[in-house]
This record gives sequence, structure tokens and C-alpha cells, in this order.
Amino acid sequence: MKAILLLGAPGAGKGTVAGTITRERGFEQFSTGDMLRESVRRGDPVGLLAQGYMERGELVPDDVIEGIVTARLDKGGPDARYLFDGFPRTLHQAEAFEPILAARGAKVDAVVQLDVPFDVIIKRMSGRRSCRQCGAVYNVHSLKPIVDGMCDRCSGPLYQRDDDQEATVRHRLSVYERQTSPLILFYEKKGLLRRIDAADRAGADRALLAVVDEVA
Ligand code: AMP
Repeated sequence: MKAILLLGAPGAGKGTVAGTITRERGFEQFSTGDMLRESVRRGDPVGLLAQGYMERGELVPDDVIEGIVTARLDKGGPDARYLFDGFPRTLHQAEAFEPILAARGAKVDAVVQLDVPFDVIIKRMSGRRSCRQCGAVYNVHSLKPIVDGMCDRCSGPLYQRDDDQEATVRHRLSVYERQTSPLILFYEKKGLLRRIDAADRAGADRALLAVVDEVA
């Protein structure tokens, strides 16, 4: 198993660059945010528990996250190659992840930090619109759909995720600063961290592809 982790504030573009790597290099995107949104949509026990935290822009408790990560890894084979997007998000999760991987004969192969200034993030996130039907992501500033409010791919309605409202975005950024940014130092000390300037999306894609090619 291969494990590359993407770190970066919400809105730094983790999901977008992860999409490029999964398409071009056959990595599987492992997004705890997507898994949680799917649980909320289904209304399963994890979803019922997670929904309030997500709406408030808070982190879902570590034991819940560690449980869904373990369950999902158990479904994948030993040759799986994962790009983790949005996990780990706390020091507790990062520490718990090590024995979870070791038990599967794996380790963290590389950690990529996407650096983007906060003012760019706030503009990106409060302009983000998602398709209710297929999940495609647009931006009212930079990636407009052909028809206002309608998805180019499936004609579904576009909406703004509750947690993309500006006040919630600011709160998510402060949660990131407090709970997730310590992971930068954690992985730097282990010699695993690479930093990418992700204000420029095309440059971020290229830099990430180079890391993947070196590791995979
Ligand atoms: P994301 O799509 O990665 O921005 O995640 C959306 C929301 O899901 C976050 O604001 C958290 O509430 C929750 N979430 C996703 N991943 C994690 C995680 N690793 N730990 C705790 N909460 C998470």
C-alpha cells in the first residue's frame, strides 16, 4: 500500500489537486470529508453524529474518524495507492494512523503541504458552488458554469455548502490553525514534508505529480 497525505487549510485546493492525481496516476482519493457527507446523505449513524459538527465547521471526534478510516482501509487491497485528502486533521489522528498503517505493512510515504494565503482561501471558498446531483465543484469568481446556477455535467442545481458560508469559512480556518497546522511540524520532524505553493493551481498540480512520481 502507498500513502501520500495532502495537508492544507480548507479551500487550499486539496480536493482539486487530488482529482488530477487520481485521474493521471491511478491513485485513489481518500477523502474523509466526502465519506462523511455521504454518511450524512444516507442518514446512517456516523452521518447523524457528524452532521452538527460539520455544519458548525468543527472537527468530527477523532474516534469516529479513526473508525471510518480503518473500516475503509480494510476494504482496499494491499496494492492500493491512496491519496489522503483531509485526513489526518489532528495530532491524535496522525499518531493513531501510524499503527493503523503498520498493521497493514504500510507507512506514510510523503506529506504534501499546500500553501495558500488566507485571503485567497476566503475568496475561493465563499465563491464555491457544488452540484447537488453529482457533486461537481464550480466557483463564481474563477470557474463559472455555462448556465448560471446549473451544472455543466448533469444539469443539476448548484448550491452553496452550509460550511462554505463566509462566517463558517473563517471559523474553519481558525479550527485549522489550532488543530491541524501542528501536523506540519509533526511531519517536518520526520523528514516527510514537502511544501507546494498552491495559490497557482496549475503549478500545484505539476509539483504534486512530481512528488507522486518520486514516491510511487
Ligand atoms: P472537508 O471536505 O475535508 O473540508 O471536510 C468537511 C468537514 O468534515 C470538516 O469541516 C469536518 O467537520 C469534517 N471532517 C473531514 N475530515 C475530518 C477529519 N479528518 N477529522 C475531523 N473532521 C473531519
